[in-house]
Amino acid sequence: MDFESIIRNIPDFPKPGIQFKDITTLLKNAEAFHEVIDIWKSRYTGKNIDAIVGAEARGFIFGAALAYAMGLPFIPVRKPGKLPAETIRENFELEYGTDSLEIHIDALKKGDRVVLVDDLLATGGTMAAICRMMERLGAEIEEIVFLIELVPLKGRERLAPYPVYALVQTMLA
Ligand code: AMP
Repeated sequence: MDFESIIRNIPDFPKPGIQFKDITTLLKNAEAFHEVIDIWKSRYTGKNIDAIVGAEARGFIFGAALAYAMGLPFIPVRKPGKLPAETIRENFELEYGTDSLEIHIDALKKGDRVVLVDDLLATGGTMAAICRMMERLGAEIEEIVFLIELVPLKGRERLAPYPVYALVQTMLA
């Protein structure tokens, strides 16, 4: 399936120069959404995965669907102040300023094998912060999976040596 043509590109959103990838057009195409999850499910079945980890907010949509399809736990990584029990936090750089993400300290245990999920890989800053959380908790990263990778932004290099898999690789970033 040509997922790239199903993801809507909105130029200059939320500000001039940004090519915003709107995945809502894929979510409302039930066949496409189903196929994304099925492809990922076949890729990770039999790999001894213990949990799927997804980033707020769009990573929840794809990550939770994958976890459900595979019969695995889903672990949310959230914006600060949302998770009620004890958490660890990682900060990361944005174009202007910094942001943070948190995960419950008891969400994973040492040696758990995880797949990390988000909708889109841009600079890789968000996912690099999640990788550092995994390292602190002692989880093993099987692979990092995205629907779409903005190739010119070189996020894949930033996440090395962890393997990255993206269904769509676009030069339009
Ligand atoms: P980054 O940390 O730079 O890899 O940015 C990744 C996060 O920002 C993901 O959670 C995306 O949902 C969001 N994001 C970054 N750039 C875009 C874009 N051009 N279109 C849609 N979402 C984006």
